Amino acid sequence: MDLDGVLAEIRAQVEPSIGRGAVADYIPGLASVDPHQFAMTVAMNDGAVHSIGDSDVRFSVQSISKVFTLALVMARDSNDVWQRVGREPSGSPFNSLLQLDQEAGIPRNPFINAGALVVTDRLHRLTGDARSALCDLVRTESGVPEIGGDEAVARSESERGHRIAAMAHLLASYDNLECPVDEVLEQYFWQCSLSMSCRELALAGGWLARNGFRAHGSRLLSLSQTKRLNAVMLTCGTYDAAGEFAYRVGVPAKSGVGGGILAVIPGVCTICVWSPALGPSGNSTAGVAALDLFTTLTGWSIF
Ligand code: GLU
Repeated sequence: MDLDGVLAEIRAQVEPSIGRGAVADYIPGLASVDPHQFAMTVAMNDGAVHSIGDSDVRFSVQSISKVFTLALVMARDSNDVWQRVGREPSGSPFNSLLQLDQEAGIPRNPFINAGALVVTDRLHRLTGDARSALCDLVRTESGVPEIGGDEAVARSESERGHRIAAMAHLLASYDNLECPVDEVLEQYFWQCSLSMSCRELALAGGWLARNGFRAHGSRLLSLSQTKRLNAVMLTCGTYDAAGEFAYRVGVPAKSGVGGGILAVIPGVCTICVWSPALGPSGNSTAGVAALDLFTTLTGWSIF
């Protein structure tokens, strides 16, 4: 497969979609990002890496971080976390307080905000420092020790994060947080502010395509846990548009409001695409179009 040719074809075809939509200005630290950027990296299981566009430019990973925190919890806690968070698509906005209250403080899935707070809380309790556990994982897997959070983005989200703070308090009122609310929020905002490039993210998530094996050969997750995590990404990873995304693209993926999407072709490769302008469901417009083209041009998908 001529992947450099495929990426060049994608870049040409997605041109009209780049910049279409709006950047996530509800987080002040993201409001000034140039929406006309585009990058895509394919990290093959055999170690080859193919990129196009601004693939070394770092962006705010936001919700993509939730895949890594969930994996770290699953690796330590096996099935226990599923007593505290569900595995169904939410069918509601990712920041819904109403659904959380109606469902007695058990978030629908680990990728909506409330579910991610529970996962971060668990990771923080299990490790004593969720931030370091997450940093160690992405740094080791990508081979880039400088990766870290963007304090300005984290602070700006924290200052405007009244809704998510309300959500954390609601979870606590249902006894679904183990750590103090303020600590969980601080950890959560920091994890969302993680700043990584397409190349770094595609490499950092390689274990998703390698049946749970880390870059240096040890296991992060078992075969079965990796299958389950990929399944949750497929059904819940792209906000309220997960059905449409599965229909168009046909692979597990997790998007973030920074405009990134991390996608997995199990047994083959991970793909990270980034373009900051978001469509109405919160997924990168050009990113979804690029992944749609990728699975169409290569014939690679899980179906
Ligand atoms: N930090 C963002 C929030 O909590 C993450 C949203 C996202 O990327 O889905 O609203």
